[in-house]
Amino acid sequence: MSVEKLQFQAETKRLLDLVVNSIYTNKEIFLRELISNASDALDKLRIESLTNKALADDSEPEIFVVPDANTKTITISDNGIGMTRDEVISNIGTIAKSGTKDFLEKLRESTAAAAQELIGQFGVGFYSAFIVADKVELITRKAGTDSAVKWTSDGAGEYELEDCDKDSRGTIIILHLKPEFCGDDEYNFTDVYEIERLVKKYSDFVRYPIKMNFEVKGKEEDSPTIEIRTVNSMKPLWTRAKSEITREEYDEFFKQQLHEWEAPQEIFHVKAEGTVEYTALLCIPKHAAPNLYYSDYEAGLQLYSRHVFIMDKCKDFLPDYLRFVKGLVDSPDLPLNISREILQQSVEVKVIGKALEKNILKQLSKMLRDDRDQYEEFWREFGKSFKIGVYNSMFDKKLQDSLKDLLLFQTSRDGKFSTLAEYVERMPESQKKIYCAAGKDSSAIERLPQMELLRERGLEVVYMTDPVDEFTIDVLNAYAEKEFQSITRENFELDDAESQKVKAEVEEIAKSHEDLLKDVKAAVGDTVKEVRLTSRLKSGAVCLVTGEGGPSLSMEKTFASMNNPMFKATQILELNPNHAVFNKLENLHALGKDNQSFKDLCTTLYALALLIEGVMPENPADLANKVTDLLTK
Ligand code: ADP
Repeated sequence: MSVEKLQFQAETKRLLDLVVNSIYTNKEIFLRELISNASDALDKLRIESLTNKALADDSEPEIFVVPDANTKTITISDNGIGMTRDEVISNIGTIAKSGTKDFLEKLRESTAAAAQELIGQFGVGFYSAFIVADKVELITRKAGTDSAVKWTSDGAGEYELEDCDKDSRGTIIILHLKPEFCGDDEYNFTDVYEIERLVKKYSDFVRYPIKMNFEVKGKEEDSPTIEIRTVNSMKPLWTRAKSEITREEYDEFFKQQLHEWEAPQEIFHVKAEGTVEYTALLCIPKHAAPNLYYSDYEAGLQLYSRHVFIMDKCKDFLPDYLRFVKGLVDSPDLPLNISREILQQSVEVKVIGKALEKNILKQLSKMLRDDRDQYEEFWREFGKSFKIGVYNSMFDKKLQDSLKDLLLFQTSRDGKFSTLAEYVERMPESQKKIYCAAGKDSSAIERLPQMELLRERGLEVVYMTDPVDEFTIDVLNAYAEKEFQSITRENFELDDAESQKVKAEVEEIAKSHEDLLKDVKAAVGDTVKEVRLTSRLKSGAVCLVTGEGGPSLSMEKTFASMNNPMFKATQILELNPNHAVFNKLENLHALGKDNQSFKDLCTTLYALALLIEGVMPENPADLANKVTDLLTK
């Protein structure tokens, strides 16, 4: 039979390097990973055979784990769905998850300790075999076919594929253990009792029997016989009383059940016996999945009926803004053979979903109130989901109401997170609106020339540093009847007497400079709607603000990055009449509106205003030339 040599996809190779060079401190978890793959394969078979009767037979689903000290191997096998040759290539040779690239990038830039944490969030599933093995063989036969294939690799750049024989469907994985895992050192993965202990520790809740061979005394003296025993209890954790379950058991459960690599941040164990009876065991992971906001992220809960697994990734329970919540629902009120289509219509699913959503929000409000640090940790990972949730709920006032008190924003007060309620609470009585400003991060906002005045007046500004923030705040429109007012929008003004006085003075100056403003506008061109004088600047010479409705400059950038370049902000260029450059502008203007130096100064000021907003002027080289000229004059 011919052997074909194939290369791992480049990203897989890099990930494998990481695994082989073992930044995992916990070497044991390979077993949990491979057993849970086996368990998934058994699930898939069971579900397929509901519709494809040819697959159904009377063999009992089972997973076998066989350590062998003689051959220095450990073998994990299942009689599940198996894989075709093509599936082996696409499932085992490549990593399809989007976000992998970003993840590897981040990993490269991080320190060893941070890398450890990062990789924990990613999870490498099958590849974890290479933590302990220097050669892995996988023999698999897809259910319903009669050909089998053998995959072999040492975890370096290549793997081999060859056709082979296998009596029945399913997958066998043989790990050729590295010497340090055969008893010379701390670990002995060839020892039956050691492996039994690990199966109990990491895979006790797996819902299929995990069997092992044990040597027992035979009837005759000194004669051993082999006894097959099921090692895991298979008892679903969620059927036990909450008070009897330890936090460690919950943590272990989520790791096993959901392929999580670290203990969750928050756990919800809900039992209900109302109109619909159900138990739900949900969690919020510690970290957001790298692809959480990519289209290939699959949200959803596992669904069970009377403890029997029905389907994975059932999306109909929780709203999209809770896409990061993981876990399962077990309800005797849902039939075993329910299809995804029927689920979508199911009243029971709606009732359960609503109750779970309410429960999660309640628990999060409580966390916000009682454990601010933990809530902020949660917020850093998943806050974006809520903000997108508000944005998507444009016409759902009720949802906005239930989310708005859970939102956090950094503010100019101390750069720390604040709820909107806390901000409003601190507002001086004279302040009518909630001031906010958008920028790429808090230091970019702090440097906006418009911030100077607010700082001087001691007014707090809500920072909108995530591209979604402005959209969210736009949809909310107001909080506690206080409207949001961006300090970079057209009609921003302060209400205090001092500000009103300055405003009146500026209006006076503007009246006598109508021609100048008109000619500046002509020199700058049609990308700006208006050129006017401003009272919102202190030491800054110019700023760019945007029209009241429609996108802001940063929203425009977001749209452009989503290939929607037609959404443009309305730009208004504002000049500070109290700045020296304004005198210069007047003097040059006196030489005539077509004077080249006047026109150059106008376009340079506009280009600078764009730069302040983080927008690249159309012709940066031209700007550079003009500024260099000015510097050498
Ligand atoms: P994950 O399980 O997170 O998808 P893995 O790297 O562990 O990632 O596995 C990749 C894929 O290989 C699985 O999604 C599955 O399709 C396939 N696979 C792995 N182990 C088995 C097995 N024992 N039987 C059938 N398919 C398997």
